[in-house]
Formats: sequence, C-alpha cells, structure tokens
Amino acid sequence: MEQLEQSRSKNQEKTKEKKKQPRASSTDPQARVMLGAKGAYAPSYNVQISTDAEAKIIVGVDVSQSSSDAGELEPAVERIEANLGQKPEQMVVDAAYPTQEAIEAMAEKGIDLIGPLVARKKPSWDVLKRNGVSAAFYPQAFSYDPSTDSYRCPAGQRLSFETEERQGGWVKRRYRAQRADCRSCPFQSQCCPGTKKGRSLLRMEKTAQLAAFEAKMQSEQAQQIYKQRAGVAEFPNAWIKEKIGLRQFRLRGLIKVGLEVLWACLTYNICQWIRLCWRPQWLAYA
Ligand code: SF4
Repeated sequence: MEQLEQSRSKNQEKTKEKKKQPRASSTDPQARVMLGAKGAYAPSYNVQISTDAEAKIIVGVDVSQSSSDAGELEPAVERIEANLGQKPEQMVVDAAYPTQEAIEAMAEKGIDLIGPLVARKKPSWDVLKRNGVSAAFYPQAFSYDPSTDSYRCPAGQRLSFETEERQGGWVKRRYRAQRADCRSCPFQSQCCPGTKKGRSLLRMEKTAQLAAFEAKMQSEQAQQIYKQRAGVAEFPNAWIKEKIGLRQFRLRGLIKVGLEVLWACLTYNICQWIRLCWRPQWLAYA
C-alpha cells in the first residue's frame, strides 16, 4: 500500500492533466504490470538469468520489478562475480541491455560487451528553427579548427569552447562567440536573433566508449559471437518452461518468486551436470 501511494503521487505529478490512476495487483502487490510474450500486459516479475556459454550452466539469477532489461546488466555481472569469485571476460546481451551507462560500466570493468547496435537518436537542430535562426547559419556553416578547439562563423569571428555536458551516448560541447562581435554583426538577425549573449553552437560527439562499442560490433568476429546469444540464453528459459512447466509463478511476492526461480535454475543446473559430467562417467564404467 505504501508503494502504491508513492507510485500514485509520482504519477499525479507526471500526468496532472490526465489524472490517470496507477493500479496494483490485489493478489500480488509486489508484481508490476509488464508486457508479456504474447503482447498482453499482466502483473509480472522480470527474471534475469545469466548462462555460461561453454558449459550451458546458469551462473547467476535474480528477479526484479523492473519492466525493462535496461539497467539489469551491472547487477547481473555483480551476481556472477559473487557466485564464481571472478568477473566474466565477456557478456553477450540482447538489444535492451547495451545502454550508454552499461557500455561505460563494462568498459570500466574491462568486460568485453557484445550486443546489437541500437540506433541512437542524434539531438536535432529543431531548436534553432524555433529560435528563428536562418538555415544559412546552421552549424554546418561554421568551420571547426581542431588546433584551437574553436569554430569560425560565416562572418569570420571565433566561437570559443564554453561548456561540456553528456546526453545519452553523446557529448555536447558548447562554443560561443563574443557578445560584442555578434552585436555589431550585420547577420545577427539571421544568426542569433534575440540572444543577449553571443551566438552559441553545439558540437555533438559520441563518447569514446560508445564509439569503440559501435566499431567493435561492426566487425565480423563480434557478429559471429552475437549470433550464439539466442541459443545460449534462451535454452535455459525454454528448458525451465518445458521440463518444469514453470510458465506462471505459483507463489506471490518478490522473495518467494525469487525462491521459485532459484529452485528451477538449480534443477536445471543439476540436470545439466548429470548430462555433462555424471552420465559420461557412468557410461564409461558401464
Ligand atoms: S552573429 Fe555572431 S556568430 Fe553570427 S555571423 Fe555574426 S559574428 Fe558570427
């Protein structure tokens, strides 16, 4: 009930006009409404399973209330480290996982991240249009000089580096002209109408980690590794659903659902151990 109240007050802030009320399941308040495999929304939990690609053994599992897999990669790596005493050399993930934060975190930990390339929207220049800037004075009309890290405007004035900020996978570097130069410029009404400061310009660059990830994922080797993901990651899911019949949780609440998943994964691992280790030995002695 506390969480429902928190969710309701957050939602009221966000949708003041709509006044849309959030709902919680009365049979399982800790479940969250998520999009299911068949396109239907239902109270659900997000099960995160990490599988060793070579042995096909589950090496990490947890249940979260997040409806998105974005943000689940770092906790998965921490679980693997805690279970195995060492971090994985490589993580192969699907499209929801390689967020900017995840790419940077994996680069920092020295883990080779393999995942699909996701089109990242470059911030548009619509704001210039709205501010009445003529197309002749859009950023492409300014020339960049790497030796001084500055721009030259069409009137020949310099725009010097001012600030830097990050947005998604982009680094936004702002350059600005001197106010006095723009005030006395005959193009001011087309270039920076209404501005009290000098004209500014944004230089958009991908972060080094994102650029490296994208370059790697364009290689044939990385694509071949990624092709193995579905077989490795989906096999335990399919096995647990088909062999154990766990298509719907029998228990309620985050902890009990977590236990149910843990038992299922343990059963899977034991069966794999029998198949891979015990059975070949038994057959050798038989
Ligand atoms: S308004 Fe300023 S930035 Fe624009 S062309 Fe003139 S001097 Fe250059």
